Amino acid sequence: MDPTRRNVIAAAGVAVAPSLSVAGEPAHDHGHDHDHSDVPSDPALRVKALESLLVEKGLVDPAALDVLVDRFEHRVGPRDGARVVARAWADPAFKQRLLSDTPTALVEMGYNADQGEHMMVVENTPQVHNLVVCTLCSCYPWAILGLPPVWYKSAPYRSRAIIDPRGVLKEFGTDVSPDIEVRVWDSTAEVRYIVLPERPIGAENLNESELAALVTRNSMIGVGKALAPGATA
Ligand code: FE
Repeated sequence: MDPTRRNVIAAAGVAVAPSLSVAGEPAHDHGHDHDHSDVPSDPALRVKALESLLVEKGLVDPAALDVLVDRFEHRVGPRDGARVVARAWADPAFKQRLLSDTPTALVEMGYNADQGEHMMVVENTPQVHNLVVCTLCSCYPWAILGLPPVWYKSAPYRSRAIIDPRGVLKEFGTDVSPDIEVRVWDSTAEVRYIVLPERPIGAENLNESELAALVTRNSMIGVGKALAPGATA
């Protein structure tokens, strides 16, 4: 952990390792082979501590935090991203704008996203399959996909998406033939990637809302493909 964060957490009154002990367990000075973390085991505890500190110092308004949390928990979700993908499938000119200047195209659809200036859409084609990860932590295009799935934040996904992307795709049940290039995009605090999946065969005559129903969250992360017409998620 970086020393600054450690100081903040310590200042917030939260015990930090190595003295940390989990309720009902001794401190971690015994011999066993699982991974230890040098941060408190419960991220919620850390978040709460930081929040209390920021509120106490008058740096954030708790009501504003509630609005933000509510927005990302209940109002923003993968359906927003699916609308964008469907528009791109239905309107080639919009697709071009989306690929060349994602933030502006998102604003055009009413997504005046907090992270909009950092977003980039990458297109799947018959030659290229794109996969998105954040190897460092959990950077994700929240503004149009909502909260990231738990597995996206997991250490195995974050490492294996880079080391063995085809193996990961296979585990998600996604077949990408060996002659298709797999490109892995490592998200950062600066750039968040969204995959534009290929439009499924047989979807040519569907309208935008019918098309949006074929777009899964996983297809916009790249671990899956869009659904075939008539299939259900
Ligand atoms: Fe991250």
